Amino acid sequence: MSTVEGESELSVYESMAARFDVAAQKLNLDPGLTNYLRTPNREIIVHIPVIMDSGKLEVFDGYRVQHSIARGPSKGGVRYSPTVTLDEIRGLAAEMTWKCAVVNIPFGGAKGGIVCDPQRLSQGELERITRRYTAEILDYIGPERDVPAPDMNTNEQTMAWIMDTYSMHVRHTVTASVTGKPVDLGGSLGRRQATGRGCMIATDQALKRFGRQREQTRVIIQGFGNVGSQAARLMYEAGYKIIGVSDINGGIFNTHGLDIPALLEFVKESKTVKGFPGGESIGNMEILEQETDVLLPAATESVITSKNAERIKARILTEGANSPTTPPADDILFERGVFVIPDILANAGGVTVSYFEWVQDRQGYFWPEGMVNERLKHLMVAAFHDVVRYGEQNNVNNRIAAYMLAIDRVAFSVKLRGIYA
Ligand code: NAD
Repeated sequence: MSTVEGESELSVYESMAARFDVAAQKLNLDPGLTNYLRTPNREIIVHIPVIMDSGKLEVFDGYRVQHSIARGPSKGGVRYSPTVTLDEIRGLAAEMTWKCAVVNIPFGGAKGGIVCDPQRLSQGELERITRRYTAEILDYIGPERDVPAPDMNTNEQTMAWIMDTYSMHVRHTVTASVTGKPVDLGGSLGRRQATGRGCMIATDQALKRFGRQREQTRVIIQGFGNVGSQAARLMYEAGYKIIGVSDINGGIFNTHGLDIPALLEFVKESKTVKGFPGGESIGNMEILEQETDVLLPAATESVITSKNAERIKARILTEGANSPTTPPADDILFERGVFVIPDILANAGGVTVSYFEWVQDRQGYFWPEGMVNERLKHLMVAAFHDVVRYGEQNNVNNRIAAYMLAIDRVAFSVKLRGIYA
């Protein structure tokens, strides 16, 4: 398990399982059904031989876990990182099942990963790793089976390679085999911004509950990759005051608000937020503990734990990253009255627009960006209110409410299909 401080609390899988167990118990699910829903449908391990630029042959480990196909094809990202483990992928695959159910889209959950260090690989090496990984899992993916998407350290280019490899094997172009593709290759307008936009839509709904205006609302964002930078840009444009951002190299902080367009320009050149002249420098973990109205972790897992949850001062926690908070930290945040928008709701904008991309590819008819954004807003707002209402009715926090709602929906589909009969 990796945390930013290197401490050990619960792994992504253990965190998912702990929350699942609480929610399943509250739903009073049959023990057999509980066990079925907790267990992945399929786990694939591949060992990928790749010729490196040096001419040397290396073997990389890759995983694809398909947690559920009860409500439709499984859906989920592929991440590249030296710390990827099967356990982490298993946890994230299950989270995808619950996330798709929370926003009520017709997918199950999956996740994939390759143990590699993308910083140390050339484009050619990355391409060969990606193509061989795709070939190894080819029988188990496809528009009707399992649809990969980008995640940490993978991007539109990675998806183009997967789509091309898949298409070469089936002998025709299948754009719906992956989502998060370049727009010129069947990608959807608005997909790149979708996760950050979804975080903003969810935060907007929380502000409405508290009667706050965007202009009075300070935001700190940890992580300045796809999710963090898009959330920063969109929230800045909408009137929020972004007072701190960080990336793996460090952070910058300015209580008067950061000039996000200038920061985006700076990052284009320097590849990091560190050293931006419009703010003071601050550490990755320290930034989480500053006075703010909204805290938006958008980097990596397990950054809010029992060790620092007491010191989180935000009123609203919008979880852009997957699994940024551990279950022991949940309890502390709940007692302290922090309004948590859990990851399976807050960052579901990405998979929602991935769903729109899959629909558009299958129709061969593409929507204008305004329509994508409007439909995203519609689903996110509905999901936000479903979760909050579910929590109020069942007297549980938003995290457990999101799990209960999702598990209830998946269990209902399973019962209707009769898999469980
Ligand atoms: P990314 O690789 O584009 O960016 C990650 C960012 O986090 C980078 O800026 C990196 O420097 C920073 N970072 C990494 N470790 C850090 C640390 N210890 N402290 C501060 N910053 C750190 O990844 P992404 O696609 O933006 O994904 C970020 C998170 O959001 C992940 O948890 C991912 O699973 C989740 N997520 C992404 C999407 C999506 O559509 N991209 C959708 C749902 C969830």
